[in-house]
Amino acid sequence: MNIAIDGPAGAGKSTIARLAAKELGFLYVDTGAMYRAIALYLLQTETDITDEEALKKALDNIQINIIYEEGVQHVFLNLSDVSAEIRNEKVGNMASKSSALKPVREKLLDIQRDIAKKNDVIMDGRDIGTNILPNAELKIYLTASVEVRAKRRFDELKNRGELPDLSVIKKDIELRDHQDMNRDIAPLKQAEDAVLIDSSDMSINDVVKKIVELERNI
Ligand code: C5P
Repeated sequence: MNIAIDGPAGAGKSTIARLAAKELGFLYVDTGAMYRAIALYLLQTETDITDEEALKKALDNIQINIIYEEGVQHVFLNLSDVSAEIRNEKVGNMASKSSALKPVREKLLDIQRDIAKKNDVIMDGRDIGTNILPNAELKIYLTASVEVRAKRRFDELKNRGELPDLSVIKKDIELRDHQDMNRDIAPLKQAEDAVLIDSSDMSINDVVKKIVELERNI
């Protein structure tokens, strides 16, 4: 059984997918983390991603492994666990840029399909329902207004002890939305057969409940 959850940055996909996966006994697969691991490498090596040769060389030197420990996903970049390191805005912004490139997407396609083939998964990302798992039994397009998404990210960073700037976060989200929705390859969009959930005025629990209900009614 495969559930695809797509939607823009900050819509709550990962929190919700993680909880729904727990409730349903599925594996939660965070595909954004894989794009982030590649982005981290590109930042570390200061690769010029507009240079095709340099990008190819970098990708050839990247090995991504996904390991699950008690249901929790760990992303390894060249055998080192980078799951924590990839969680910052700089890496997220680079991931949004580099994920628009064909060789980057090609590198991750098989890894993602393979995990979905072998497990019951809830997989979240941008092109899961449209491209990676077109035959998923349930597809969700999870969104929320830009204001709500920016405020959620702001609160998250504040809780981590950072000093975020709400207007900068909002601008970042708008830029990411634009990049993710307007790229040529696998742009973010709602699959025709996806259920639209706007979580702007919904609690996390409400959304999880709705997804679990949809799944149980299949
Ligand atoms: O979801 P997350 O913020 O971790 O994703 C980081 C970036 O990776 C996104 O902005 C998007 O550009 C890219 N991504 C993608 N396709 C996916 C998952 C993430 O292009 N399936």
